[in-house]
Amino acid sequence: MTSTESVTRLHRPDSLDEACRLLTALDMPMIYGGGTAVQILLKQGVLFASDLVDLSRIAGLDRIDATENGIRVGAMVTLRRMETDAQVHRTAPLAARVYGHVANPRVRNTASVGGNLAHGDYRLDPPTALLVLDAQVELTSTAGSRKLPIREFFTGFQQTAIAHGELVSAVHVPRQPSPHSAFVKLSSLSVNDWPCASAAALVVPVGRRRDNSELRLGLGALASRPEFLSLTLPSDTGLHDAVDAAARAAAEVIDPIPDIRGSADFKRRLGLVAVRDAVRQAWESAQRATGDHDSEEGSDAQRASRRRWWRGR
Ligand SMILES: Cc1cc2nc3c(=O)[nH]c(=O)nc-3n(C[C@H](O)[C@H](O)[C@H](O)COP(=O)(O)OP(=O)(O)OC[C@H]3O[C@@H](n4cnc5c(N)ncnc54)[C@H](O)[C@@H]3O)c2cc1C
Repeated sequence: MTSTESVTRLHRPDSLDEACRLLTALDMPMIYGGGTAVQILLKQGVLFASDLVDLSRIAGLDRIDATENGIRVGAMVTLRRMETDAQVHRTAPLAARVYGHVANPRVRNTASVGGNLAHGDYRLDPPTALLVLDAQVELTSTAGSRKLPIREFFTGFQQTAIAHGELVSAVHVPRQPSPHSAFVKLSSLSVNDWPCASAAALVVPVGRRRDNSELRLGLGALASRPEFLSLTLPSDTGLHDAVDAAARAAAEVIDPIPDIRGSADFKRRLGLVAVRDAVRQAWESAQRATGDHDSEEGSDAQRASRRRWWRGR
């Protein structure tokens, strides 16, 4: 028996309850979301599942609902909808932008938000935005639902915190706390290909007087799982220094996996380019908003000296 033939049954439950019961009762079930990854694994003959549990008939899983502090996105919402939906654009523009960079329109029209996360690949783009936005993954089983911070969801190479019998039922995305965000994706084969390096950056002013800013970074394809890091810097830190600080912090966690898209060294360099570029855009946007805009040309000391020179004239 080939591995493809080993998938003998297709189940199409009408409710989340029924899907969860199937996941518990069946021997080797596999959830079928959009199917873009499952189909490839089937064709490659590397899929080992006795039963496929297709979620497409379950009412409500394709909804996006407003919540007190953002949106709740059902697991079967397509990536394309995340890219185009007005509510997503209003609530979390960074997420809309990043979903629009996944693969190509054909994949985005079919792949689901839940399947994308559950896939657990270290190169996924959407987690970079969801990490900096501090989203929560809703996991449901016959025992009920729990919410898990996405920052605890990716546990290792191709591994997630989904427990036996659980499925991803939704993702809760908080309202973006600041507009100062950017996403940079660099691919070595084609624009639509998986990234060699991707970075999402968000600058969030903190404190009553907004003296400091939290610089949040989500990294994709640069380690064995999507990575998150956060730095707090004085809000008046110059662009050059902010970019340098972020690159130093990112260098500590970047540990790329070499493959046909490039060596570890190539990806490490590319990763730092992506980080610097994303931070430059986000920090510059924050500086512009506070009227503290400056170009990155020259060091902060040089720019301070330029300012003194102008003041002295
Ligand atoms: C040509 C190509 C290029 C791609 N490029 C990129 C890229 O650049 N960036 C990127 O981020 N991604 C990329 N992808 C990956 C794509 O995003 C994933 O294939 C897709 O998101 C998986 O979603 P799906 O709904 O089709 O999942 P499925 O194929 O249905 O499932 C994927 C996995 O998740 C499980 N699963 C599905 N739904 C759930 C659920 N609700 N709860 C629990 N488990 C579930 C399945 O059992 C399976 O293990 C690419 C894919 C292709 C085919």
